[in-house]
Amino acid sequence: MRAVVTGGAGFLGSHLCERLLNEGWDVLALDNLITGVDSNVSHLMNHPKFRVARGDVSNYIDVAGPVDYVLHFASPASPVDYLKLPIQTLKVGALGTHNALGLALAKNAKFFLASTSECYGDPEISPQHEEYWGRVNPIGPRGVYDEAKRYAEAMTMAYHRYHKVDTRIVRIFNTYGPRMRLNDGRALPNFVYQALSGKPLTIYGDGKQTRSFCYVSDLIEGIYRLMMSDEHLPTNIGNPQEITILEFAECIRKHFDNAPPLVFEPLPQDDPKRRCPDITKAKRVLKWEPKIGLEEGLKLTLAYFKEAFHKS
Ligand code: UDP
Repeated sequence: MRAVVTGGAGFLGSHLCERLLNEGWDVLALDNLITGVDSNVSHLMNHPKFRVARGDVSNYIDVAGPVDYVLHFASPASPVDYLKLPIQTLKVGALGTHNALGLALAKNAKFFLASTSECYGDPEISPQHEEYWGRVNPIGPRGVYDEAKRYAEAMTMAYHRYHKVDTRIVRIFNTYGPRMRLNDGRALPNFVYQALSGKPLTIYGDGKQTRSFCYVSDLIEGIYRLMMSDEHLPTNIGNPQEITILEFAECIRKHFDNAPPLVFEPLPQDDPKRRCPDITKAKRVLKWEPKIGLEEGLKLTLAYFKEAFHKS
């Protein structure tokens, strides 16, 4: 079996490549390295079934030979990144998804879309289940990501219904773990970087907004099970343990001697007030639920970040 993983040098893409190699697949990772980094896959470079190619999937995807599965994971995914790269974010969600679907159709391969809880926007209901259509501001700063992913879902369903491509869609909730970029601007890398450099931890707004953090190995297990299932409609994968950002900052602070103080900064526009996955469907269809609690996941992640920080 041979897979093409777009965004294969990214945080999630690289963990997915590793998992597929462990399952015996041949893997071709495509990445333009605007947010991914070579070092995420350097440990796989000598694997006989792994290859990485540099390219922008928003332009064209050219792959020689047979392909069994196309997994589209390319996109900036941190709010700071997609605010810096608004056009690329829209393009990879729209044109990149179209090209990846075109490749799947041409190769008679299955297709897997990495979608997002951002499809629910700033939701009126919590937890969010898959039938909820969301509350997204299309022209706000986050719209470049949210609308690109909503379009990507629509395009995926169109290829499924019209071209009969065998597709899957995962809606990924906040995920953390080794290989997140220390400077990607998200809450966890920011807090850890700030704590490591003795700076105050920046809480946006009053810190009462909530998120639910899933450890990366749990997420990849859910994704792999969805790949192997027959489920075509979007499926939430995430950890339903919901906490406020203030509580999250405290959990991280506890891991540092001389923990730095907190400072409050303005809340970014359209920042969702609550986010928590309803995983009833994943439990029922995939027999999946997360296994790693926040404390255990944080220990593993902090060990990685401490090493990365001291190397940099
Ligand atoms: N956040 C924060 N301080 C930071 C970075 C993020 O308080 O230094 C907040 C942010 O406003 C949001 C939450 O943490 O409410 C999660 O933000 P993140 O960028 O990790 O991802 P999001 O879930 O918003 O996509």
